Parts: sequence; C-alpha cells; structure tokens
Amino acid sequence: MTTTAPPVRSHDPAAPDTQVAEAPAVAPADVRRAAERARIAQRAWLDAGAGARCTALDAAADRIAAAAGDLADLIVREVGKPIAEARGEVARAVAILRHNAQQAYDPVGTVHEPAAGPGLLLTRRRPHGVAGLITPWNFPLAIPLWKAAPALATGNAVLLKPAPQALGCALRLAELLAEVLPADVFTVLPGEAATGAAVVETADVVSFTGSTAVGQEVVRAATARGIPVQAELGGCNAALVLPDADVRTTAGQLIAAAFGYAGQKCTATGRIIVVGDPEPLRAALTTAARALTVGDPRDAATVCGPVIGEAARDRVRTAIDAATGAGARVLATSETPDGPGWYTAPTILERVPAGHPILREEVFGPVAVLQTAADLTEALELARDVPHGLVTSVHTRDLDAALTVVDRIDTGLVKVNAPTTGVDFHMPFGGTKASSHGPREQGRAAADFYTSVRTVSLLPADPTGTP
Ligand code: NAD
Repeated sequence: MTTTAPPVRSHDPAAPDTQVAEAPAVAPADVRRAAERARIAQRAWLDAGAGARCTALDAAADRIAAAAGDLADLIVREVGKPIAEARGEVARAVAILRHNAQQAYDPVGTVHEPAAGPGLLLTRRRPHGVAGLITPWNFPLAIPLWKAAPALATGNAVLLKPAPQALGCALRLAELLAEVLPADVFTVLPGEAATGAAVVETADVVSFTGSTAVGQEVVRAATARGIPVQAELGGCNAALVLPDADVRTTAGQLIAAAFGYAGQKCTATGRIIVVGDPEPLRAALTTAARALTVGDPRDAATVCGPVIGEAARDRVRTAIDAATGAGARVLATSETPDGPGWYTAPTILERVPAGHPILREEVFGPVAVLQTAADLTEALELARDVPHGLVTSVHTRDLDAALTVVDRIDTGLVKVNAPTTGVDFHMPFGGTKASSHGPREQGRAAADFYTSVRTVSLLPADPTGTP
C-alpha cells in the first residue's frame, strides 16, 4: 500500500495518554484500488441473491451480538461513551443488521398496466454499485452500520471511511464482518480528509454524516461528479416547555438530552425554551443537574463523561466564556473529576443576549441555554431562528399545542414529551436547512437511496400471436 500520510491514531478520552488504535492512512491511489476490487466483488454479491445477502447480514448481527461486551468496552475506551449508552449502541447495531437483513426481501418495484395493448410496465430498483460511506466518531458502530446495512442489503459493496477518533471500532467491525461477507464487499479505509475525499471521488453513491462544514464540501464534490449524495450534519436543537408540562419529568429528559454522552449527539438539546413563568423549570433543572453523574465512562452510573479531545474541550469552554463574557449567567453546573481526561462541566446558561452565537451554533458539548418566551408563537419563532433543522421536542399535556408545534416547526424530527435524542432505526431520519442534504437515511428511505429505478416495458414478442 502507498502510505505517505502519518498513521491514524485514536486515544482514550478519559485517559488521553493511552493510545487505543493505530493504522496507516490509506492514500488516494489505494482508495481507487480498493474501489476497483469492490466493484468486482459487488457483481457477485448482487448475483448471489436476496437470500444470500439476508443470511450474511443476519450472521453479521450474530457476530456483533457475540462480541457485545468487548465492543461496548471498546466504544467506552475509544470515544468516551458512558458504558450504559455504549451497550445500548451495540444492541442497536445488532437490531439494525437484523432489520436490514429482512429488507433484502422487500419488494423492489411495482407493476403497471400499459397505456394501450398487451404487456406489462415494471419498475425495478437496482443498486448503484459501490457505496462510499464517511462517518463521524460519536456513534462508531451504529452510524457506519445504519449506512452499510441497507447499502449491502440492496446489493451494493461498501467503502467505509471512519472518523480517525473511532478507528479501533471500525477496524473491529471490519474483522467481524469479514467473517461473514465475501472479500472486498465491505472495506474499511482509515484516514483523514484526503482519504475521505478520495472515497467521494471513486464511489457510485455517497452517504456522509458529520459536521456541516465538511458535509457541504462532500456534497459539492459528489454533486460535481453527478452521483447521488446524502449528508446528515449538525444540529442546534430546541426543547419547548409549555406551562402545563410535568416539570420534574421534563427536567429529567432535558438534562439527559443535553448532557448524556457530554452533549456529543447531533440530536442533543442545546436550547431549552420555556413558555410563561420559568421559575418551576429553573428549579427542576437545577435539581436534576445536581443529580447528574459526571465522571468515568466505565462507571455504570455515569451519564456525562469526557468530550472527545482537547480541542473539543477548549471549544466548549471558550463558548461558555464568550457567553458569560457577553452577560449570560450560569444557572447550573457540575463538578468534573480530577485527573487527566478531557472533562468539561455540564453547564446551563441563561439570560444569553439575543443574537449571541451560542444561540445559533452547534457547540457539540455539554452546554444548554435556557430561553424564555411569552407564548407558543414566540417559542416557535425562537426555535426556528437557527440555521439548522434537525429535531425539536415539545413538552406539554395539551394535544392542540403539541399538534401546533408538529405543524409549524421546521425540523426533520419532532418529539412530543420525549427527549430530542434517540433515533428509531426503522424510521426515516434526517433534518432540514443546514442539518441535512438529500434523501433521508434509515428504514425504507435507505433502501431507496442506495438504489435507482429502472422502468421496464415488457411486451409479447408477437403481439398478434394467439396463445
Ligand atoms: P467531521 O465533519 O469532522 O468528520 C466526519 C468525517 O468526515 C470523518 O470521517 C472525517 O475524517 C471526514 N472528513 C473530514 N474532512 C473531509 C473531507 N474534506 N472530505 C471527506 N471526508 C472528510 O465530524 P465529526 O467531528 O467526526 O462528528 C461530529 C459532527 O457530526 C457534529 O457536527 C454532529 O452534529 C455531526 N453528526 C450528525 C449526525 C446526523 O445524523 N445529523 C449524527 C452524528 C453526528
């Protein structure tokens, strides 16, 4: 392999001196070679049929389930995800594979009557060929698999460029899948931006998840090549708390959604917009924040562990300092553990001046802002006043108010009396505005994205012939 770039390395966010994984960065020329091998393997993978693909994906689910304990520990060590959430992610990875194994048997088209005469008109979905997947570090198993499983189920081969910070999880995934998939059908290509860009230059379809800035670059490059591309990007998500909400339950959900996994989810709650008197919610949030367990992600009680790295920690602290420097106040914050990990205290800010960047930009860390609104109309205006459009939650007993939010909010997902975090792998997933580009992921939407429609006219050889 040609490798000129420095190796890719990942480190334990709770013990940054500990290296978790290392691999050579795959050079663009080797990405092209991997794509050629994948293109050959894809033909046999498609020809093997739906039954073979279903069996292989089910076997992949079995392998992951059998390695569940080790995989959860690896997620904790490599990306600092608290162990309870890491176990949940492994369970979800298994469910994603099982669901998509069955999707291999789903209908791939429709049958229509011709406008005139005998015969049939058909549509039939066919795979694009080689799917290039570029993924972030925060869901190191679930995101690669929620892209790869439908791509494979529909007969594509996959090139996966994982985030450097999640290298070890991707390499382990490659080992497990190699036990059940034909060679070159699923290839992991470690590397940084140059490797990712080479994947975009060689694949037949691209699915990206990551930051808005990088995603927009990927979309431009894929669009210039004329290939299908989807990008799931950042969020700046609001929770709307109406006067009749159950304050204690809501505060618990908000704290979990804002600070679970140190706020490092695209669906994390970054803004809490309370309608009417804010005092009951302020008190409940303060109590719930005090009860939050911040610490070692290996500890089963931990909800908020370290952030992914030094730059991320500094970015979070700078954002908080900028807001307090502009007049914001800290409503609640926590202690962080002593020691070497990249910890930063979960913090709720209030009285942030209007127009401050922290109200409109994704921090991707354990920070939430409390805003107040006189009524639902003002709350909706505040909620919509961001470049992103991923998810909104509304907390209320009033069905009419909930339906108003469902009708008028501009995000791709709406949660009623549930946290902004949490994704249903069998439902379409994605946002609007700067949060997404292209078709939805997951569920039936994913099978559509990884295929294109052929329209087939099927006529008798001799239309005048009698049977
Ligand atoms: P990132 O954008 O820095 O990196 C994502 C991936 O892109 C990595 O594999 C990276 O190596 C690769 N990359 C970087 N430059 C590239 C280039 N020029 N061409 C091709 N690939 C390139 O994001 P991250 O820090 O890994 O993840 C955090 C971000 O991901 C947050 O903004 C978060 O909101 C977002 N995210 C979104 C969703 C969603 O579904 N909407 C889910 C999880 C995370």
